[in-house]
Amino acid sequence: SPDIVCEGLCKSFADGTQALAPLDAVFDGGKTTAFVGPSGCGKSTLLRLIAGLETPSAGAVLIGGAPPASLQRQGAIAMAFQDPSLLPWRSLRGNIALALTLAGRPADRTAVDGLIDLVGLAGFGDARPSALSGGMRQRAAIARALVTEPSLLLLDEPFGAVDELTRRQLARDLPKLWEPRGTTTLLVTHSVDEAVLLSDRVLVLSPRPAQIAADIAVSLPRP
Ligand code: ADP
Ligand code: ADP
Repeated sequence: SPDIVCEGLCKSFADGTQALAPLDAVFDGGKTTAFVGPSGCGKSTLLRLIAGLETPSAGAVLIGGAPPASLQRQGAIAMAFQDPSLLPWRSLRGNIALALTLAGRPADRTAVDGLIDLVGLAGFGDARPSALSGGMRQRAAIARALVTEPSLLLLDEPFGAVDELTRRQLARDLPKLWEPRGTTTLLVTHSVDEAVLLSDRVLVLSPRPAQIAADIAVSLPRP
């Protein structure tokens, strides 16, 4: 899996807000890196720059030596953000299958249902998003992100509305899925516990503009 390199990465918005100071960092391919830091420090902005959803004001993001757009075109980047934005007129199964269709792949029902089970939504495949709780919708968004087996997985507070018990289950089950695939995963979370449980490396960011305040290697045995 490709490394992600941030070279002098800066982002300022039109109103003058500087979200990222020059940031130099390498995130290892096949590993999970978690970002924690004060609200508003620039974590989401960093993820959006890596996804190619924002353009840097200066510097660059290189994924395996190429700009994010080229990986994006191959459908190799998947994201699950705090707001799951599922299509309201489609069932859960339909929403997840659509990710496969958009990636130009056959809608493999076994893969879709397997992920629905894995995120604890067995029996809800036919339900519309409006019939699900906020936490259930977030879990559906995680299933949707994983179904295409992306090489780069970007998770921005993906468990904010998920109850504590389910969150622990996910923290246990999700790495089992992405680690063997060699997925490069970046996770933004406000929970240090979650960061440590899910990742190989925790980066603590300073208040805006985000700089790396601490860089911690995690080597917990997986449960
Ligand atoms: P975090 O994810 O760490 O909470 P964000 O990356 O969302 O932080 O935001 C970093 C800073 O940039 C915040 O001060 C936020 O208000 C600001 N910001 C984010 N997006 C925009 C935008 N489109 N225009 C202006 N300011 C923005
Ligand atoms: P939220 O935290 O937004 O309320 P949760 O994911 O915690 O969302 O789910 C809330 C409630 O939805 C659970 O307490 C349970 O009653 C119901 N629920 C969630 N997942 C399932 C499931 N797999 N099977 C049956 N009910 C579920």
